[in-house]
Amino acid sequence: MLPEQLSSALAELDAQGLSRRRLVLASPQGPRVRVDGREYLSFASNDYLGLAAHPAIAEAVGRAVATAGVGAGAAHLLTGHHHLHHALEAVLADFVGLPSALLFSTGYMANLGVLTALLDRHGEIFADRLNHASLLDGARLGRARLSRYPHLDLVCLERRLAASRAGVKLIATDTVFSMDGDLAPVPQLLELAERFDAWLYLDDAHGFGVLGEQGGGVLRHFPHLTGHPRLIYMATLGKAIGVAGAFVAGSPELIHWLVNKARGYLYTTAQPPLLAAAVLASLELVAGEPWRRQRLAVLIQRLKAGVAPLPWPLMPSRTPIQPLLAGSNAQALCLAEGLKERGILIPAIRPPTVPQGTARLRVSLSAAHTPSDVDTLLGALLELALA
Ligand SMILES: *Cc1c(COP(=O)(O)O)cnc(C)c1O
Repeated sequence: MLPEQLSSALAELDAQGLSRRRLVLASPQGPRVRVDGREYLSFASNDYLGLAAHPAIAEAVGRAVATAGVGAGAAHLLTGHHHLHHALEAVLADFVGLPSALLFSTGYMANLGVLTALLDRHGEIFADRLNHASLLDGARLGRARLSRYPHLDLVCLERRLAASRAGVKLIATDTVFSMDGDLAPVPQLLELAERFDAWLYLDDAHGFGVLGEQGGGVLRHFPHLTGHPRLIYMATLGKAIGVAGAFVAGSPELIHWLVNKARGYLYTTAQPPLLAAAVLASLELVAGEPWRRQRLAVLIQRLKAGVAPLPWPLMPSRTPIQPLLAGSNAQALCLAEGLKERGILIPAIRPPTVPQGTARLRVSLSAAHTPSDVDTLLGALLELALA
């Protein structure tokens, strides 16, 4: 796109109501945020456990700065791999019950890095249609054949696996779908991966910290998954963990291969080691404070019970992602606007992020919310329903 074409392209975006702008936060992330001089009750972050501004994590960062400095100064394979990174990788592998783990700077780069390191154009990636954009981009970048199956449709997936002639097959799925909040049937997917000699790649961005008794994620949520050699597990550290970054876990051979071949690992500066210290401190809270997951369960139940009299249903989700189905784009925008006037922040999610006719408010709950925060939201929604 040439410079002179930008303004007409932008005007077109505007005309279609698709132009996006950023909110500017003047507070830490949390259940209450300051935007444009006003405080909002927010159901709009992925900080599911309420850890993004936790003082124990901030203190760990302060201590790490004193001993490790700020910048990593180099990529991991040069001199950027600090002992804090190394210690964190061992803790993360343990946390999810797989032999080895590797840190990445973001989840986006982890997905691109793994998919391009394992598959070339002779490979085939089988992807749920509602997977995160980074899985789609990873498949495209590696030029593997991409076969997208309808959401959770294992019959279709099985048919495509059976028909595939690809040298390397990989099934890729979100575990908790980011705009729907529902769960992938991981044991059945693993069974298909075994039967058709494929990898199973799990993106647990929204499950790690939230699912499983100690927050160990989807591999701890379902029985008998940990330690399986076909599994490649990816989770991010910027959502429930409240920090930043991501990791991939699997067999020692897989991790050794990624250290050598994942371009999103090789050609980027390591994250500051102070962030590894922050994640280590966060993981202690994640495992040691089960009340955070219990609080989430209470809030989810309260929201589900409270929406019954409203004209907009919640989608079937048992996770902190609780989308309220508005239907039309106009209805979703109108709801989000009405809530904002009442001091409540919830994003309206519209096509193309979600299918036509399923525009929704993505209500995202956090352990830092109180039951009365949920009641405030329900009260505002009821007012809007009667308006
Ligand atoms: C957020 C997210 C990512 C990207 O992770 P970042 O660390 O934010 O880059 C990948 N996959 C899913 C499913 C996500 O929700």
